[in-house]
Amino acid sequence: MEPTKLWINDEWLDADQSVPLYNPHTEEQIAEIGYASATQAELAIAAAARAFAVNRNKPAYERAAVLSRVADLFRERHEEAAQLVAKEAAKPIRAARGEIDRTIETYQLSAEAAKNVYGQVIPMDAVPGGEKNTAYTAREPLGVVAAITPFNFPMNLVAHKVGPAIAAGNTIVLKPAEKTPLSALFLAELFREAGLPAGVLNIIPGYGEELSEILTTHEQVAFITFTGSPRVGKLIRSQAGLRRVTLELGSNSPLLIDEGFSDQELDRIADQAITGAFSYNGQICISIQRIYVHENVYDDFIDRMAIKAQQLKIGDPLEEDTDICSLITHEAAERLKTWLEQAIQGGSKIRSGGIFINHVMHPTILTNVPLDAELNRDEAFGPIVTISPFKSWSEAIDLANDSQFGLNAGAFTKDIQRAFAAAKGIKSGAVLINQIPTFRVDQMPYGGVKNSGSGREGVRYAMEDMMETKLVSFRTGVYDEE
Ligand code: NAD
Repeated sequence: MEPTKLWINDEWLDADQSVPLYNPHTEEQIAEIGYASATQAELAIAAAARAFAVNRNKPAYERAAVLSRVADLFRERHEEAAQLVAKEAAKPIRAARGEIDRTIETYQLSAEAAKNVYGQVIPMDAVPGGEKNTAYTAREPLGVVAAITPFNFPMNLVAHKVGPAIAAGNTIVLKPAEKTPLSALFLAELFREAGLPAGVLNIIPGYGEELSEILTTHEQVAFITFTGSPRVGKLIRSQAGLRRVTLELGSNSPLLIDEGFSDQELDRIADQAITGAFSYNGQICISIQRIYVHENVYDDFIDRMAIKAQQLKIGDPLEEDTDICSLITHEAAERLKTWLEQAIQGGSKIRSGGIFINHVMHPTILTNVPLDAELNRDEAFGPIVTISPFKSWSEAIDLANDSQFGLNAGAFTKDIQRAFAAAKGIKSGAVLINQIPTFRVDQMPYGGVKNSGSGREGVRYAMEDMMETKLVSFRTGVYDEE
């Protein structure tokens, strides 16, 4: 197979090395991927630095038009893009199509946000000595953005970095995940067709460890935006020095379910919890991992969840009705097997699943999981959820907070006081009332506290992080007599 090339300064360049890329489900080789060396990454950074002078001076409506055109091109090539995601990420095709829908939204929102960058007039006369000065703030792009992305949403999480960066007037060097470079390279074709100036977007597949230093320490990189595991996030933070960094990291999202729902309502909540726990084999940063249910409905809820989990269809990601397929790697399956065995040794009970066939894990529901088990403490990133009972709402909030993470949390309750208590008491980036924590629309501020990271995405919020506030002040009446 001919290796794919690097996209640098509007040209396809041969990479210094190449590695095979396999479909995680069929394990067939689907491409040979050219990987950038550190020297080639430097070329990409230099191209982005030169292009900054161009992009920052483009009028907002032109940057918006390019982003809007990319959204249109995704609409035209929707199925092709979805098939690409399904093949390289082993994402069930219906979920892959959903990801492309959201990718279109993200580029469209970026186009709109490009036209809506505002500053403020500062009331300089609010303190003595400030009068006779008139000041406003301008929002300015930072420069070269280094973007490092994970495998699990190879189109939309790339869009959450590329869209806001271009909208704000920055330029980008994108290093996609080793598992999903094809989706990123697909983007080059779309931006070229949309008329993006040369060097504004550069795409360099490669080993994270090899390119880490150059991307995080190069003097021309002004901002680093990373989505991925907490382990790598900490490393990037330690390398970045004084540079601004956004870190979108992992979680083990909690869902609280109160008493007081009718049978029909509880059933609908169970349907949503199944979606939140098992979509894309649980390989979503806001996948539901810990469910806490009021003791009065605990057994009933478990029964409903177990029946529904067993109805999920296991199959090939390209089949229309597939819900569950292979995990991204055999190592991921091995880790989950070990965690499951540890939990069972600690007294946990399997209520559904618990079976592995190759690296497919059947959707698994566990109860009686010890609080100190990995499955309660760490991020599973697989199709597994623990269910535990609570007696009081304050206990439920404490359980939700008993985590090193804090990204999204969900709480179903009909009691307005409890809803407010959850909203105020849960330490996380978002608290979603009567909604699963896996819910996300692309304009909402999104990001974590604790080990889930820092900074926010969600187009306008990502743009805020990617711009600097400059104060401009005019002294007036300089020659007036006092
Ligand atoms: P990962 O951390 O293994 O890889 C992410 C990226 O980091 C890849 O591009 C990889 O090449 C790169 N990388 C690896 N080592 C590096 C190093 N030493 N220096 C610099 N870059 C390096 O994560 P993954 O397995 O691709 O994705 C899963 C993780 O991502 C989970 O923890 C998940 O929760 C998290 N995630 C978070 C969000 C969010 O928005 N908070 C969204 C999706 C995924």
